[in-house]
Amino acid sequence: MSPTRELESFLARLPKVELHLHLEGAVQPETLRELSRRKGWPRRKIAEWVSRRRQQHYRYRNFQDFLKAFGMITLLLEEPEDYALATTRLMEWLAAQNVKYAEVILSAGVVLWKRQSLEKVFEASAEAARAAGARLGMHINWIFDAIRHFGKRHVRQVLHAAARYRSQGVVAFGIGGDEVRGPAELFAEIYREARGLGLHVVAHAGEAAGAESVRHAIELLGAERIGHGLKFLAGGLVVTLNSDDPAMFGTSLENEYLQAARCFGLSREVMAELARQAARSAFLPEEDKRALVEEIDRATL
Ligand SMILES: [Zn+2]
Repeated sequence: MSPTRELESFLARLPKVELHLHLEGAVQPETLRELSRRKGWPRRKIAEWVSRRRQQHYRYRNFQDFLKAFGMITLLLEEPEDYALATTRLMEWLAAQNVKYAEVILSAGVVLWKRQSLEKVFEASAEAARAAGARLGMHINWIFDAIRHFGKRHVRQVLHAAARYRSQGVVAFGIGGDEVRGPAELFAEIYREARGLGLHVVAHAGEAAGAESVRHAIELLGAERIGHGLKFLAGGLVVTLNSDDPAMFGTSLENEYLQAARCFGLSREVMAELARQAARSAFLPEEDKRALVEEIDRATL
């Protein structure tokens, strides 16, 4: 077997944990088509949009352009059943990559913005996740994300929804969106409240703004994990690989592992350690994290 094929097969076999993955950004073109068939939308429009994105190699002119595209996908998720279908297809896709556990981000803020019932959307999604998990031998938990540039009132509303669903697998609360229009200092008190309610806290930072924004997420918000921290492996920080919005970037977790190994010449040991770091960084009880690490050890040692 060629070294490239060998690496691919090693990474395919490696049990993986995904900690930063947006449900909406993971809706694959096939799922969009499936939704459009089910609902009788003009198929041509969907097909055109998908092929335009592919022609542009999933490139976005800037972060605002990306946010617009993300918003467009969320508009296609009209009913709780659409979210349920997206969840089921996402879990099948993860299972095919040998992902054993994932923390999936639901843009709860966007659901509220669309004036949909967050209760119905989440309950349908959580039910789909339970059914798919039992069938596929893996499971997911949820992170509720608020839109930071919508301001404090909105962010607090998402926090309270997250707290309500703690017993149904919502493990954390976070913010995403435009860091410039929604700076961290606005939300320090809300994050304190979130920790008091027993939720883990995360934040998108360093995505559309620089290092200062990452520093504020840690110092002012007490964020336990940062999305988009970018390449701190050599500095000895805990780094995990995730796919974020895989359908919008034309990637997958398995592909991210492959690209990291290839671009930075990382050894199999380092790749296995990245998978272990993700397992250790999960918002799971200690014994569940240990079991995931042991599974990775068995597959790689
Ligand atoms: Zn993200």
